[in-house]
Amino acid sequence: MKRVCVFAGSNVGASPEYAQKAVQLGEVIADKDFELVYGGSRIGLMGRVADSVLAAGGKVIGVMPRNLFKGEMIHPGLTELHEVDSMHERKALMSEMADSYIALPGGLGTYEELFEVVSWSQLGIHKKPVGVLNVAGFYQPMAEMFRQAVLAGFMQQTNLGLIIFEEDPELLIDKLINYMPPEQTYKWNELA
Ligand code: AMP
Repeated sequence: MKRVCVFAGSNVGASPEYAQKAVQLGEVIADKDFELVYGGSRIGLMGRVADSVLAAGGKVIGVMPRNLFKGEMIHPGLTELHEVDSMHERKALMSEMADSYIALPGGLGTYEELFEVVSWSQLGIHKKPVGVLNVAGFYQPMAEMFRQAVLAGFMQQTNLGLIIFEEDPELLIDKLINYMPPEQTYKWNELA
């Protein structure tokens, strides 16, 4: 595993803890000799992770849609910048380039990216590890929603293992390295 794709808020969030953990994650990524693939922005938690990987001597690959994000959004220190024509192309390229995925706290953009990669895990399109950095319990309600989906019969119990929840950046990376995809159960109860 060499490249981790990070999805993260384009804002820093209301508590300094979010940015602190984003910086720690960047240090661990560089320390473990991983390359960072991400959305290419210099702002928010996205920018903080990239700054931190670069400051620790690591490599950062940004993927940006042309003409979508106005102003000086592009991180000036990127090791590589890939410009694409749409958000769809961006996700496809980020996904292709990475061997693992991590979501930090964020908003709708972050959820959308995280949910795409994890819904593709449940269909067996890829077997790459997906983790969330559960800073200050930020992702607890999402874990709860997944359990609710299992209880309500919309999600298989085994698929709860498709996302690794971890608060500590170093432990999270270690868990991604040691990840074994859960045994897949058939998704559709009516057809089983
Ligand atoms: P959000 O969580 O809503 O702030 O959205 C963050 C996610 O959406 C990131 O992982 C990016 O891929 C994308 N995104 C949102 N805003 C920006 C921005 N200003 N520059 C680059 N990507 C962005």
